[in-house]
Amino acid sequence: MDASHSEAARMLRPDEVTVHLIASGLIMLTQQTQDQPALTLPYPEPLQRGLNRLVLACLRRNRPPPRSVMDLLNWCREPLITWGLDLPDGSVADYERLLDDQIPTATCEAWARSGADIEANLSEETFMHEVITICIESDDPEAYTTFRRMLIERPALTALEFQQALGELDIDALQERLKEAYEPAPRSAAHNGQWATCAICGNLMLRRRRGELICEDEQCRAQGRRTPARLLPLRDGVVWLRRDLRRYIAMPGRAELQLAADLEKLGLQIALWPAFDRYDLRVTFPDKTVWAIDVKDWSNPFLLARSVNNKPFPNDPPWDRAFFVFPDARRAQRPDYVRAFCNALRVHSDRVEACFARDLLRRAKEQIERGSHA
Ligand SMILES: [Zn+2]
Repeated sequence: MDASHSEAARMLRPDEVTVHLIASGLIMLTQQTQDQPALTLPYPEPLQRGLNRLVLACLRRNRPPPRSVMDLLNWCREPLITWGLDLPDGSVADYERLLDDQIPTATCEAWARSGADIEANLSEETFMHEVITICIESDDPEAYTTFRRMLIERPALTALEFQQALGELDIDALQERLKEAYEPAPRSAAHNGQWATCAICGNLMLRRRRGELICEDEQCRAQGRRTPARLLPLRDGVVWLRRDLRRYIAMPGRAELQLAADLEKLGLQIALWPAFDRYDLRVTFPDKTVWAIDVKDWSNPFLLARSVNNKPFPNDPPWDRAFFVFPDARRAQRPDYVRAFCNALRVHSDRVEACFARDLLRRAKEQIERGSHA
């Protein structure tokens, strides 16, 4: 453990560690049950440790604790705020739960994530760092953009489509990385000999306990479209993007590409992930003003601010103004999202702002107007 890690550990309250352990355990459990449909013991170790800590926390406060892991799973379907834990102000909104049916929510992901930087290097960060290194060595920024776009736009592929995708990459080492990015699709998600893909995000759809099709992405579920885009037979040898890459590269990536497309429609010049991914979008206006944008799609603004506090906005490639941009859907969930984020932010600069995508587009139009009158 280096100094910054132990400092981060000191910042966590005991009940935060409990929620982090339970959230990580739930994600491991989901992975286990996807690979092996029949629920097999033992439960993931963090889940058991989290349960033990939660039981103690309840007993200390004279509250009835969960009686078993199965009981804990029921608790996880209730709002976190009803657990009676000591969590920082603003860290939990009253609707936030860890499980939706048996699927971990974005809140669960964020809590799993929130302590993870203390424990280990994050797997998808290590992976993308290797990809960046390969592209830098080949001096090929375009190869990086192609690779990253592939992960975002094509999360589920047949064996044939996967071969074609490999063919689009000129660098051998990148082809190897692409093979590591995908896994055989889980049998548990197939039904009647085929998998279904989500019409919104392209991921494989999962099945609820009652058998209905559902996307693992909350934003897709919120839109309520259940009709699959494609049905892929088992014999086609389907592969699916790895879970960590789905959650931390592809999911936010869709919001990044949408915002890039919207800004392009305004006639602006966009560079995606400039200088090998220093930030998400570099926008150049006709008057040569430059905006730098990082799209952040976290359900919890408090946990997001805590992660941003550890990583200030990169200065390079240079910009005149920088923005943290949140997808509009987050406003519907939590109207005070921007305020909650800014309140928890420790690093302040008047050149760096935070806003929703819709507001960014409005401001971009105003900037174009200003430039044309200058
Ligand atoms: Zn989806």
